[in-house]
Amino acid sequence: MKLDDTELKALLRLVDATRGREIDCDELLDRIGGYVEKFSGSVRPPGFDDIVQHLQQCPECSEEVEALLEVLGSEKRDDA
Ligand SMILES: [Zn+2]
Repeated sequence: MKLDDTELKALLRLVDATRGREIDCDELLDRIGGYVEKFSGSVRPPGFDDIVQHLQQCPECSEEVEALLEVLGSEKRDDA
C-alpha cells in the first residue's frame, strides 16, 4: 500500500489531533475569557496548561490574547 500526498497529510493531521490533549483555536477562544480574567499582572493563572500550550504554538491566538490582556490591563489602570 502506498499513500499519496493527500492521504499522507490526512493521516498526519489525525495523528496530530490525537496527540496529548491539545486544544484548537475554537476551543481556546471559548475559554480565553476565563483565562484573561484570572490573569493579573504577569502571573499566569494555574489550570490553563492547555491554553498556554496552544498559545506557544499558535501565533494568531497568541496575538489575540496579548491584545485582550492589553485592553484589560488598561481598563484596570483606569479604575485605579
Ligand atoms: Zn490558535
